[in-house]
Amino acid sequence: MTTCEQVVLATSNAGKVRELAGPLGALGVRVLGLDGFPGLGDIVEDGDSFEANALIKARAVAAHTGLVSIADDSGLEVDALHGAPGIHSARYADDWEFLAGESRDARNIRKLLHALRDVPETARGCRFVCCMAVVFPPSLGGREWTVRGIWEGRLLTTPRGENGFGYDPVFWDPGLGRGAAELSREEKMARSHRGRALRALLDVWPGRP
Ligand code: IMP
Repeated sequence: MTTCEQVVLATSNAGKVRELAGPLGALGVRVLGLDGFPGLGDIVEDGDSFEANALIKARAVAAHTGLVSIADDSGLEVDALHGAPGIHSARYADDWEFLAGESRDARNIRKLLHALRDVPETARGCRFVCCMAVVFPPSLGGREWTVRGIWEGRLLTTPRGENGFGYDPVFWDPGLGRGAAELSREEKMARSHRGRALRALLDVWPGRP
């Protein structure tokens, strides 16, 4: 297995870079964001699964930079909606009008709560899914793999909590007895799909003692 000294995360989001920089740094790996690599252009995420989309992003970045790349793709699967919004979570309510001053996240939540308005508590199961893909460029062996983290929960009927983003205000963790938007960043990482995927990634990282 080939080891590497630096990886490029397929994002310009400084928060996501920081999240990985700590744990991968402890393994001697430097984590870079995409900011230092202009000219990549838009990546078309037309895969039919979280894994496929994460791989599309990681492959594009590895090809562009010549470095090992990590990409993630995540979303919310709702049982009563047969897994929707799933890979379309970010754009779920793009076919709905904005209310005055409404954010995209708030509009997504409004559409979701409307879709589940007649669904009883016992049938409101859902899960956050996060897939991370690692792609080594051909010059470093060309290896690719994916890991997946899942956070099981239940959809609330009204938003609660002030933290987090996306669908957090309507996600309830029954094991913890708290909502996702009521958790601190650290508490969320300990339970969440992203935290689990990250730990799975570190577990199989090449060169890990
Ligand atoms: P991305 O793949 O990280 O861009 O996430 C896609 C979409 O899934 C986001 O825009 C959110 O709507 C939703 N999502 C992913 N992870 C979370 C989370 O931890 N909390 C709430 N929503 C999330």
